[in-house]
Formats: sequence, structure tokens, C-alpha cells
Amino acid sequence: MTNSRVLISGAGVAGPALAYWLVRRGFDVTVVERAPELRTAGYKVDVRGAGTEVLRKMGLLKAAQAADTGMRRITYVKKNGRPLAALPADLLMGRRGDDLEIMRWDLSRLMHDATRDDVDYVFGDTITSINDRDVTFEQRKPQEFDYVVGADGLHSVTRRLSMGEVPLRHLGAYISIFTVPNTLGIEREEFMYFRPERLAFAYAMEPAQPARVGLTFASPELDFDRRDVAAQKAMLHEAFAGTGWRVDEFLAGMDRTDDFYFDSLSQVELPAWSKGRVALLGDAAYCPAPASGQGSSLALVGAYVLGRHLGEPGGLAEYERRMRPYVEKNMAFGRKMAKDMVPGGRLSIAVRSYGMRTLKYHPRKEQVIDRILAPMLDAANAIEL
Ligand SMILES: Cc1cc2nc3c(=O)[nH]c(=O)nc-3n(C[C@H](O)[C@H](O)[C@H](O)COP(=O)(O)OP(=O)(O)OC[C@H]3O[C@@H](n4cnc5c(N)ncnc54)[C@H](O)[C@@H]3O)c2cc1C
Repeated sequence: MTNSRVLISGAGVAGPALAYWLVRRGFDVTVVERAPELRTAGYKVDVRGAGTEVLRKMGLLKAAQAADTGMRRITYVKKNGRPLAALPADLLMGRRGDDLEIMRWDLSRLMHDATRDDVDYVFGDTITSINDRDVTFEQRKPQEFDYVVGADGLHSVTRRLSMGEVPLRHLGAYISIFTVPNTLGIEREEFMYFRPERLAFAYAMEPAQPARVGLTFASPELDFDRRDVAAQKAMLHEAFAGTGWRVDEFLAGMDRTDDFYFDSLSQVELPAWSKGRVALLGDAAYCPAPASGQGSSLALVGAYVLGRHLGEPGGLAEYERRMRPYVEKNMAFGRKMAKDMVPGGRLSIAVRSYGMRTLKYHPRKEQVIDRILAPMLDAANAIEL
């Protein structure tokens, strides 16, 4: 047991999950989150393999399963909104055992609720400098900590302050998620609509709940201000206006919502995940990109392993030694999926549509899907906990 003080930057998934384990080892934990409250934006995320095992160890698996999206079906639609093909979600998702799918916000909230009584959560603030034990903040007075952990996502400020600017690996696309009124009456069904170099998708758990919409477009790296939401919305208008289905309605809904997430499909690759008293965790250290479907599992597993070793002699090296092979497999899978996520030109859409229409009738469809998903299942389980 220890009474060392730890500062975690970021209350997404990784930050509160690490706090959970550190509190149990007697650490005094503060979590600083830049947003004024837990961020509610985001789409469905998967928790698979070792990630599910960590939820079980946290005693949160049942609660997470109760919040499962329970998705029944994926329906591919044409420009006029008519269905092109509808496939059972179980067939396509390749879930095994206790693997689950949950809204990002539900997962983040579960982690926060499990730790809020034992952890000092500070919202609406950010670290501005780290100098050995001394940390300064934008709002709070400077404080001393024994360790600082950056769980502050793809554009981690902790990473920048401790290791300098690190270029991200751009995977050739941008993704946006936002909330709109559920005018489609979606109920545990996902709609997908492909256009050349564009993908639009929408999901809701209940007809009475708003729907989450995703818009993804292929693009080389763009130079834009990440704080300028109006400029990001304008980019989405330019990329998607007039492309058919209900997309214009979604764009109008997007203009009225504050619940908005926009980022590149990018990976973080670092030669080391710690420096001195600072360690990085989750997307800040090894973002595999949303296309991998593995970001949340990596965050949960990383939190478990770091939570076990932080503060031990050689603990940070051990965290890295245990996590590297697992992370690398998932990063490779993320790069492969990013290529497949956004369609290419018209020919690629025609091939994709043909595949979707015929898959349902394929006599060995389960084997076809299993072959496609094998690398993901392998990556999801590539660590002993
Ligand atoms: C709003 C949002 C929506 C997302 N939606 C999806 C999605 O739909 N699909 C998907 O696959 N992945 C999504 N992601 C990414 C996904 O959550 C992560 O890949 C995964 O859960 C790993 O979690 P993480 O805790 O490492 O990072 P994140 O979940 O990104 O959490 C990082 C946290 O750090 C906070 N933060 C950022 N900068 C600072 C700072 N300077 N100081 C303090 N706090 C800071 C952020 O506000 C956020 O709460 C989303 C991320 C966010 C932030």
C-alpha cells in the first residue's frame, strides 16, 4: 500500500479506469478533465476479449452488459432511403462470449460512477506545465504529485508537455459523431449509407431517444483549428451536402447540437510511454483509431496493467513490456480497418453493395465472417492478464 499522490489528466475511459485500480492500492488520486462535465458525445464502442475481462475484474461487467446497445440489425440503404440489404448484427459483429457494445458515454459514466466517491474529480481545468513533481494548472493553484498520467486522448496535452510535439499517423479520413432527433424512428438498428469516399451511419437504442449520427470522409491531413467547431461543421457541410438519403436532415440537426465530436482517424505511435514521473495511457499513448473498434479495450486493459505496476520499482517498464505486443497487434488491425471503413469510388461501392446483398444467402456466411474477423479476435485477446 502507498499513499503517493497521482494526477490523471482526462476523464474519458482510461483515466477513471486507472483511478479505480490506483485507489485500491492506496494512492491518493486526482483526475483533471478539461471539459466542464463528462463528455456525452460519441457513438457505440466495442469492448472485447481482454477488455471484457478487465470489466469483469472491476465488477462492472454486469452493469456494462445491462447498458449494451442490444443492436439487432444493420441495414444498408440506397440514396432514396430504400434498404439495399439488412443483416443480423450478431452475424456481422463477431462478438464472442461476454464481448459487448456500449455507447461511449455509458462506458465513461460507468467508470466515473465507480470512482467518484474515492477520487478528486476536477472538471473544467487542464495541466499547463509539469516539472518533476510540480504541476501547474490553468485554473487551480500549482500542486505536487508523485506521478502524472496522461489519459487525455489523441491530442494529449500531457504527452506534449512531457515529450514534445509527436506527429500522428494519419489514416486518410475524418470522423464526426453528433446527436440528432430520431426522425427515422430507429430502434436497436444501425443504418449505413455509402457514397464515394463518404460513409454516413446512424443508430439509436430507442425510438424515443435521439439518434447518434456518424459522418466519415476520406481526406489527406487537413490544417484546421480543433477548437473551432463552426469550421469543422462547415467542412462536413462541404463534404456531405446533397449526397442523398437523410444526410441533409442530419447536417441540419448537427448545426443545432452541442453534442459534437470531430477528429481524424489517426494513430499514436511512441517509442516509449513514459518519461520520468509521467506515464501515458489509452489513446494518449497508443490510439489505434476508431476504425479498429479497439480503443476502449486498449484503454481498459492499459489501465489495469498500469494500475497494477505504477509505483513499483521498474513498474513503468513492466507496464510497457506487458502491453506492447497487444497494442501492436491492435494498431496493425486498426490500419487495416481504416482502409476498409471509408469506401473508395463507385466501383468499390458496387462491389461492397453486391457483397452485402448476397452475404445473407451465402451457404457458408458464418465462415466468411469468421475469416474476416479472425485478426480482430486474435488482437483482442493478445495479452494475458
Ligand atoms: C467525445 C469523444 C467521443 C468519442 N467517440 C468515439 C466513437 O464514437 N467511436 C470510437 O471508436 N471512439 C470514440 N472516441 C475515442 C474513444 O473514446 C477512445 O478511443 C477510447 O475510449 C480510449 O479512451 P481514452 O480515455 O484513452 O481517451 P478519450 O475517450 O478520448 O478520453 C480523453 C479525455 O481526456 C479529456 N481531455 C482532453 N484534453 C484534455 C486536457 N488538456 N486536460 C484534461 N482533460 C483533457 C477529453 O475531454 C476526454 O474526456 C471518442 C472520444 C471522445 C473524447
